[in-house]
Amino acid sequence: MVEKYDLVIRNARLRGRDKLYDIAVENGLVVDIEERVEGRGGVEVDAGGGLVTEPFVNPHLHMCKVYTYLLIGEEAVRRYQSSGMEYSLSAIEIASHVKERYREEWIYGNAYKALEEAVRHGTLYIRAFVDTDTKARLEGVKALLKLRDRYRGVVDIQVVAFPQDGLICDPGAEDYLWKAVELGADVVGGIPWIEYSSDYMWKHIDIVFNIAREYDRDIAMLTDDTGDPSLYTTEMLALKTIREKWIGRVTACHARALAVKPKPYLERLAGLLKEAGMSLISDPHTGPLHLPIKYMVSRGVNVALGQDDIADAYYPYGRNNMVEVAFLASHLTWSMTLNDMDMLFDMVTWRAAKAINIKGYGLKVGGRADLLVHRAKSVYELIWLHEKPLYVIRNGRIIYSRVEEEKIDLETI
Ligand SMILES: [Zn+2]
Repeated sequence: MVEKYDLVIRNARLRGRDKLYDIAVENGLVVDIEERVEGRGGVEVDAGGGLVTEPFVNPHLHMCKVYTYLLIGEEAVRRYQSSGMEYSLSAIEIASHVKERYREEWIYGNAYKALEEAVRHGTLYIRAFVDTDTKARLEGVKALLKLRDRYRGVVDIQVVAFPQDGLICDPGAEDYLWKAVELGADVVGGIPWIEYSSDYMWKHIDIVFNIAREYDRDIAMLTDDTGDPSLYTTEMLALKTIREKWIGRVTACHARALAVKPKPYLERLAGLLKEAGMSLISDPHTGPLHLPIKYMVSRGVNVALGQDDIADAYYPYGRNNMVEVAFLASHLTWSMTLNDMDMLFDMVTWRAAKAINIKGYGLKVGGRADLLVHRAKSVYELIWLHEKPLYVIRNGRIIYSRVEEEKIDLETI
């Protein structure tokens, strides 16, 4: 029999629909979604009533630091996780010592391992923050740029040149930031809250925008990452974004101080964030405070969840499993209704894709055939089990099969 398609997925359950569907794929694109697709595929996959979704998106991961937890010791974690987060600045100072040992080769090896984990968990888009400053120099950036090119079309990586130790309080870091972007980093990073005065914080933000404007880059900053209600760098970033007309091109990660701000302030800030088209990225599992994710979504702000860390000075676990991140956020933010679960799932799929400007994302006829076939039959089950997909498909090609890896007999599940 002549095969009509490259791939057909049978008996797929789709979010928000009752019936089961077949999905036909040709030349890397979804070409048909019907209750019954006539004509065979070169590859046939039976989803058996399991959910088929878009791949996961990790919009925030410190990728040069993965698997360094045991190298650094526990003091940074102890300080970062103090209940009011009053010592997060000193945690960053301690954690930065590891960078004196930064070498491109071992960063490459560690990041490679994290990418293989990403493939197995269906996380096919990552925004990777890579330190570049007077200690880290360009070692991590070089490693991640090589990996970005190697994994293109499998896991798409956006490399963020990130001055983790500040720009004003780390003289010389600005030069590295310019060089990293010149080398090809995709996004300009920043961390204005770490500077010692609001004047320095503005200078920090201005420098990042100068580079972004020069190279036409998106911007990702860590804002207000401590329990200090006097911090305003999320607001400052939004104001600058509006002034510079960088609308829809800027994200604020962490923003934990929003947990200790009064409600009327949050109301005004939400308005400003929407005007700036700014997304917030939260990671409630890596610190005792987190921004009010449900509130911000209810005010129309785009919010996504990030993995943030994999076994580094700030968090000892993590495996690029974004549905595990959603599972943890479900507990930490007390989001356990079915609607909440849908919101959390959105935050690791389309909301994250929107935050980091991924073009052509989404499961639809004519869209890219980037698909996950899950054993779970609902978003509820998926978050509950937070297990690896049965199949990970990229551009119409199976790039990971848990069925094969674990010799799963589909008749028995
Ligand atoms: Zn972070």
